[in-house]
Amino acid sequence: MDTGKKNDDWSDAELEAAVDGYLKMLAIERSSQKLNKAHENRLLREGVLIGRSKGSIEYRMRNISTELNDLCLPYIVGYVPAAHLGAGVAQRVRAAMIAKGAFNPDDYAPTADAQALNAKVLKLEQQELVGTPRGIEKPQRVNGTTSSFLRDPLVKAWVLKQANGVCEGCDQDAPFKQSNGLHFLEVHHVKHLANDGTDWVTNAVALCPNCHRRCHHSSDKEAFTLSLYTKVKRLKRE
Ligand SMILES: [Zn+2]
Ligand SMILES: [Zn+2]
Repeated sequence: MDTGKKNDDWSDAELEAAVDGYLKMLAIERSSQKLNKAHENRLLREGVLIGRSKGSIEYRMRNISTELNDLCLPYIVGYVPAAHLGAGVAQRVRAAMIAKGAFNPDDYAPTADAQALNAKVLKLEQQELVGTPRGIEKPQRVNGTTSSFLRDPLVKAWVLKQANGVCEGCDQDAPFKQSNGLHFLEVHHVKHLANDGTDWVTNAVALCPNCHRRCHHSSDKEAFTLSLYTKVKRLKRE
């Protein structure tokens, strides 16, 4: 097995060739055709990746899986996400992926702007979300006219998809559909961001407007909030 260190010296062209190879294999696998990874690996070593070992290319493929997995994007099943690389190398792998159109970084960039967040969420909700987003442990506070937080669009999209139009507080269908046809639910942070709650799926719940107001303003808000922890298994006390 190659170490991450030995792999630090890959050029951008090599990284992009690896991403190209990866995306080609992913497309083959996703279309349910037979994927011959050894063959594709050999092709890469006969091309731009001449001089790289089979194992070192496989390790790169797993690095790419790691990045895709972080974005809840489908990855090649046979390339299990490797442990996270150092920030510098990970950054370069991501840059190669962006250069090759593997994803649009804007879609995933945290934002404190409610409208921008919802636009991102809407886009992400329409895509297949694989696995669970990592989210943000300590969302950064942004001071505008009202103080708000940088939030991860993937977390909100994931929670809404999981709820599938049913309020996780009262189990009723969302009260109405939005103009885009999607059910209207709000995503609430059970431990409020203002109280140092995380922007993790284990702290976020999809609620109808009534249940959401209840969490914030009702006389039984503490008890109601406690009941959410029991009811929604994914939630963890912070
Ligand atoms: Zn409700
Ligand atoms: Zn709330």
